[in-house]
Amino acid sequence: MSQLKFEPFGDNYPECSVTSGKDRMEEACGVFGVFASGEDLFRLTCFALFALQHRGQESAGVALSDGNGIYLNKGVGLVSEVLTDLDAMKDIPSVGAVGHVRYSTAGGGRPENAQPLLIEYRHGSLAVVHNGNLINAMELRENLEDQGSIFQTTTDSELVAHLIARYGYGDLEASLKSALTHLQGAYNFLFLTENSLVGVRDPHGIHPLSLGKWNGHYVLASETCAFDTIGAEVIRDIEPGEMVIIDQNGLTSKQVLPSQRQALCVFEFIYFARPDSNIHGKNVHLVRKELGRRLAREQPAEADLVTGVPDSSLSAASGFAEELGIPYEMGLIKNKYIGRTFIQPKQEIRSLGVQLKLNPIFKVVEGKRVVVVDDSIVRGTTSKKLVNMFFKAGAREVHLRISSPPVIAPCYYGIDTPTYEELIGSYKDTEAIRKEVGATSLGYLSYESTVQSSGLCESELCTACFSGKYPVEIEGGTYERSEKF
Ligand code: SF4
Repeated sequence: MSQLKFEPFGDNYPECSVTSGKDRMEEACGVFGVFASGEDLFRLTCFALFALQHRGQESAGVALSDGNGIYLNKGVGLVSEVLTDLDAMKDIPSVGAVGHVRYSTAGGGRPENAQPLLIEYRHGSLAVVHNGNLINAMELRENLEDQGSIFQTTTDSELVAHLIARYGYGDLEASLKSALTHLQGAYNFLFLTENSLVGVRDPHGIHPLSLGKWNGHYVLASETCAFDTIGAEVIRDIEPGEMVIIDQNGLTSKQVLPSQRQALCVFEFIYFARPDSNIHGKNVHLVRKELGRRLAREQPAEADLVTGVPDSSLSAASGFAEELGIPYEMGLIKNKYIGRTFIQPKQEIRSLGVQLKLNPIFKVVEGKRVVVVDDSIVRGTTSKKLVNMFFKAGAREVHLRISSPPVIAPCYYGIDTPTYEELIGSYKDTEAIRKEVGATSLGYLSYESTVQSSGLCESELCTACFSGKYPVEIEGGTYERSEKF
């Protein structure tokens, strides 16, 4: 087969993965993999996926290898809706499994886009799961289609399967190495063959991927909370550009792509990851508490109580309250049982969605000066609704405190954000945003404190949505931060 030739970026930079209407930064998938003979790996993988459910609620799936072929069980919905029969695959003498929960940053929420994706190629079956976003997906797809490829899904994850098949004259490792050289952006891929599990992290390490051990067998997961759930121990993070091959001979690690500047998504600490997860050895809850403490020092408020927006802001709110010695209270209740699919993206339903999901405790906030800690302001519509909700519940003052800086630029690495024009922080200053959302006062955490709270250096993080400086070059240059900040 002739060598594939791909041009570098064309003029058409792919659109940011926007689902217009979103007012939160949204997660982008969770992955899990295990290689272990003679265990009920379907059940184990389902348990791990329950722990990763916060990373994606649109579809869920598991692929299981019995050493000769790969079985698939996947669909649209939550893990509990899709993988309903935990005994469904218990009689399959499995040797390995991969699982996925999906948030559709690319390709929409179509049923065929549910992962794992399963392909048959010259070396057998291959199941693929992906967390991230390929920023050159559109161009890669066009190139492959020009050369005859037919795609079954609209996901960028399928691209890598096609590339592997194209380079399939060598073994998986060789094919994968060649395929990876074409990929730009954020990716954690897990591949399951009949007799191996392979994990790879992009050269910047934008999203987390950890290695653990369960009953003496290796496991891989987007977050360590999945290991806690199944009783596995954490071994380490997969390094940027590292490939791990797990088979009956144990684990082999290879640096398949030159490690570039580490650029871990700072929003994993602020919002995405579960508080009980550890990323790069830092506990997410403790990092959030530190964000809250620093926020209290930088943006104090005279108030009767502090409350947080569940669930992601509760840790920061407790840190804020502790730092100022103000009582921490449960001021908002979240209805956790409303699925994402119920909240339709139309404007009128969207605004209603906030009420369906959150409700203040009137007796707690009535007549009080309340500090409300939230993790970010994206469009501003949710914050406005939130502030209004507290005033309606009888709060005397509502001091909104944000445990991160203004979001001024969209994400291209697998996190669903609105466009520049829709990000309120990109065109309004703090006072204008305060007026817009109707808060008594508004304060953001500084960029410097956000970085310092993570315990990592600025050079080890992606902070592009606050700074506009993208770790992977974006065609058309970088966003210049406005003078107003
Ligand atoms: S742009 Fe923002 S959300 Fe996206 S990876 Fe970077 S820090 Fe994370």
